[in-house]
Amino acid sequence: MPGPYNDRQARSSTELARVYAVVNQKGGVGKTTTAINVAANLPALGKSVLLVDMDPQGNTTSGLGVDRRRLEASVYQSIVDGADVNAAILKTVTAGLDLLPSDPALAGAEIELISLPRRERRLLYALDSLRRSYDYVIIDCPPSLGLLTVNCLVAAEFMLIPIQCEYFALEGLGALTYTTARIQRDLNPRLKIGGIVLTLYDARTALAGQVAAQVRERFPQQTFRTVIPRSVRLSEAPSHGLPITEYDPTSRGALAYQELTRELIAT
Ligand code: ATP
Ligand code: MG
Repeated sequence: MPGPYNDRQARSSTELARVYAVVNQKGGVGKTTTAINVAANLPALGKSVLLVDMDPQGNTTSGLGVDRRRLEASVYQSIVDGADVNAAILKTVTAGLDLLPSDPALAGAEIELISLPRRERRLLYALDSLRRSYDYVIIDCPPSLGLLTVNCLVAAEFMLIPIQCEYFALEGLGALTYTTARIQRDLNPRLKIGGIVLTLYDARTALAGQVAAQVRERFPQQTFRTVIPRSVRLSEAPSHGLPITEYDPTSRGALAYQELTRELIAT
């Protein structure tokens, strides 16, 4: 298990981190896979990154080899108790990629936050002191539009939206659009779509091609050119506690996430 972080170098740049929330309330569309593997590619492109796991399921945390039962601190204490995030940040096997882990208590935070002051801005405040320490902050959201996700969208400037190339892919985007509009109006006018990622693309099915074409037609400017293929290697990597860049760097999935990350930093 990676150790706690106590030797972080302050980044010399005066620029603030670009903060992305990987969001789609539909479950299993590749949010976590995208969050981990985009974040893991950034250091090789010269960008330091903090990956924040805001999902009580903790798939990002365990997918990077962290044993959630042995955590001393997590994003939970920072957003609920206002504890210093630095105490919870961990290094990962990828140099330049740090993790702010989730823990199962985060499930209760959805309710606990309701009675707290500035309940939609708890993550924003928790991350505030880190915005000069990283080039990118990537937040993995839970599959809901509840208060945890609202916190993610208030803390972020860009939404990275994975869409699975399956039937019903676009279903539910209406709810996301509605939530986004409300957050833009009331809480975070800077929030915008940072890009739509077509995921779990199976070139053998006509349906995948149709769905991809439909998404591009509806979001011509926002959809990334890179498409993430359905790949067994991508689904295996988390059980080894590794991003695909470490688990199988020459696999199709690894190359696709590398290309996607290049596109993302170019935007
Ligand atoms: P949740 O909504 O539950 O948080 P999610 O949107 O984060 O899910 P993932 O956990 O990334 O989705 O992916 C769902 C499942 O599909 C996982 O088992 C993951 O390993 C697998 N998966 C994701 N992307 C791919 C891919 N491109 N090829 C093959 N399997 C994939
Ligand atoms: Mg997930």
